Order: sequence, then structure tokens, then C-alpha cells
Amino acid sequence: MHDDLTSVDFAVVGGGIVGLATALRLQELHPRSRITLLEKETAVAQHQSGRNSGVIHAGVYYAPGSLKAQFSRQGVSATRGFCDEHGIPYSICGKLIVATDTDEITRMEALETRARANGIEIDRLSGAEARALEPAIKATAALLSPSTGIVDYGLVAARMAELFIDRGGALRLGAEVTGGTETEAGITLNIGQETLSAGKAVFCGGLMADRLARCFGAEIDFRIIPFRGEYFAIRNQPADLVRHLIYPVPDPERPFLGVHLTRKMNGGFTVGPNAVLAMKREGYRKTDISLTDLAESLSYPGFWRVVARNFGPAMNELTASTFRRLYLQKVHKYCDQISLADLVPYKAGVRAQAVASDGRMIDDFLFTDTRHTLHVCNAPSPAATSALPIAAHIVERLLGG
Ligand SMILES: Cc1cc2nc3c(=O)[nH]c(=O)nc-3n(C[C@H](O)[C@H](O)[C@H](O)COP(=O)(O)OP(=O)(O)OC[C@H]3O[C@@H](n4cnc5c(N)ncnc54)[C@H](O)[C@@H]3O)c2cc1C
Repeated sequence: MHDDLTSVDFAVVGGGIVGLATALRLQELHPRSRITLLEKETAVAQHQSGRNSGVIHAGVYYAPGSLKAQFSRQGVSATRGFCDEHGIPYSICGKLIVATDTDEITRMEALETRARANGIEIDRLSGAEARALEPAIKATAALLSPSTGIVDYGLVAARMAELFIDRGGALRLGAEVTGGTETEAGITLNIGQETLSAGKAVFCGGLMADRLARCFGAEIDFRIIPFRGEYFAIRNQPADLVRHLIYPVPDPERPFLGVHLTRKMNGGFTVGPNAVLAMKREGYRKTDISLTDLAESLSYPGFWRVVARNFGPAMNELTASTFRRLYLQKVHKYCDQISLADLVPYKAGVRAQAVASDGRMIDDFLFTDTRHTLHVCNAPSPAATSALPIAAHIVERLLGG
């Protein structure tokens, strides 16, 4: 490990999967350079990267030509390759997207067209074919994505951190970047009372992305609005309740995929996540409130526009969050074998969703740069799947400029 605590070639801020993959990519291209990764928590992957559905997304949903479509397609093989090389277990169990009424069939057909435009392998199934594959599921028709899989992204991130350290990188935990300045020569980061100068810096702050970008003078027109996603683990059900991941057909008006039935790498299943406006960016319990975070959301015009546009669905999610029975109704649409007594609370996650001042939820991955910095502004799902190609893109952009 390089031991210069005051001056480095590259600083990476944020020890989630995107920051870690970026640090590894910099190291790969510049093995002799001094690279420091700064993470404010006492371990890596404590936020989105360690609190997600664990799905390796094949790329069915994303707008053709978008970065999400490109990076998720590349991300599936990159993630599998990384796991194969480093002995991390994963399973390509496939996914069924199930339509349960004629309205959903129409939306499912649009999704099929999109998946084909993205070059994703997708099979159309009748209701009977879907039920033959998954007897516990109700479906009028379904799409099968055979290349969707599952992995524990917390394990992937932990292995990335080990590799980074083994290859000479400095990982500083408990190191919160609180401010800094950019000069002609590079950038200075404040970490409490200390400073670190870097030739270039990449900010992968997830739920704090907008604050970090503003703090370093990047011109941005978005704010991070946190959406909590609550899960339940399922008990009392056979190990083969479902063999694939089971997803509803998503609502095209919403950027989230709907409550799905997910197999876990350590056995068992979860259902989730819903999408509830959170009152704290890094708050994982319903009761968590940060007055600063709340005031920042409430004072932002884009927040009120999001609420106005999504009032119906937002209220529905909020009610389902409060009443487990309503949450279960979402699952019962496609699997009525699960009962209330089977649902056990499971660790929640909070999504960092960038919202523009006009109230538009920014759908694609978004980056912005200053002379010596690059800020990851919007890296929602499928950014865990896509972390390795995102990192390649970041480093090319950072070094090309
Ligand atoms: C509920 C949920 C389900 C999801 N499901 C999937 C899925 O199935 N598949 C998929 O591909 N994606 C999924 N995602 C998305 C995926 O988890 C994220 O896109 C990805 O983890 C983003 O990684 P990141 O490194 O950008 O952010 P994070 O993992 O949030 O990391 C950001 C890091 O920056 C640190 N940080 C912030 N500010 C500072 C500072 N000032 N100084 C130092 N450190 C700082 C934080 O502590 C944190 O560790 C899901 C996300 C959620 C929330």
C-alpha cells in the first residue's frame, strides 16, 4: 500500500461497488500510480451496494441506446467473469416477468420489443407454459429472461476492496470528505481536519452525490431524492417455491420494477422492494428522519413536481408500507401461496434517485465533470450489475479530458 496520506495521483470518494470498481480500473491502467479510496463508513458497501435485490440484470427494461442498456448488457458478462475469477458464488437462474391481465399483456409486449431491440435473449411464454415452469405462479402470459441471475453484491464489493489493497491501493475507512477545492494543478479534499491533494478525483457518493457535486463546484440540475425499498423474507415455504426470479410487468410511468419474488444466494426468498419516499437519505427504518435531508427535499421544486406526478402510486406505496396486508396484495397478484404469517421483515435499502428541477426522475446513468473531477450523479439499478463497465467509462472520461 502506498503510505502517502497527503498527496496522491487519484482519489476515489465512496466505497460502494461503483467507487471500488473505479479504483480497480484506475489501478489496472496505472499500476504505478498512488490511488486512495475514501469511504466514510467503517466498512465498504454499507449503503446501496450492500442493500439491494442482488439481481444480475440482463438488460430487458432499459431504453435502447441508453447507457443502462449498454452497461447492463456488458455488466452481465463482466460480473460473471469477475465472480468466476475470484470464486464468488452466483446463479443464472433466469427470470419470469408475469402478466396477469390484458392490460399487462400489452405492456409486456412493449417490454419484449424493447428487450429484442437491446439484443437481450427473451422468450415469450403462454400462461400454461409459464405455469408449467413455475406451478406456484399465476400468469396469463410471461416473458422468460434466461440470462438474469443473482449474486451477493456485498461479497463482490468486499473482494474488490481486498484486490485494491493487495495491488497497492490505500483504502481509508471512516474518512468522510467534508469539502475541498479545485485548483489549476488538481484537487484538495478535506477529510475532517486533514487534507489530501490529488491530481484527479472521482466521486461515487451514491445517496450523497448531489451534495458532493455542489461542494466541488460542478454545475448540476438535479437533487438526490431517497426512495426506501422495503423487503420481507419468506418463511414456511418449500425450497422450490419458485426456481426463477418472478417479476410483475413494471408500470412504465415509474422508474422502479415493482415488488418481485427473489431467490437469495444463501437460500430462501425475499419479496420487495416497494418504493416509499424516505425522510432520511441513509435511514433504513420507517421512523428514521433527518431534518436536514427532509428540508433539502421539501425546499426543492423538483420534489413537489415528482410528488404531484406520482401522487397516486406514491400514496399506494406508502399505504402498502404501513399495512403488510396491502403489501401482500401486490405479491398475490402473481403468487397467492404466500400468506401474511410467512412475511418476516428483511433489511431495507434506500435508492439514490436523481430528480431534475422540472420534476423528471432521471432515468439513465448520469455523470458530470469539472477540470480534475468526475462526479457520478445518477447510478441507480442496474448500477450494481453494471459497475465494471461503468468504471471503464468513468476512467476513460476522466483520463480523456
Ligand atoms: C432497494 C434496492 C434494490 C436494488 N436492486 C438492484 C439489483 O437487484 N441489481 C442491480 O444491479 N442494482 C440494484 N440496485 C442498485 C444498486 O444497488 C446501486 O445502483 C449501486 O449499489 C450503486 O453503487 P454506488 O457505489 O454508486 O453507491 P453506494 O453503494 O450507495 O455507495 C456510495 C458510497 O459513498 C460513500 N460516501 C458518501 N458520501 C461520502 C463522503 N462525503 N465521503 C466518503 N464517502 C462517502 C457512502 O458511505 C457509500 O459507501 C438496487 C438498489 C436498491 C437501493
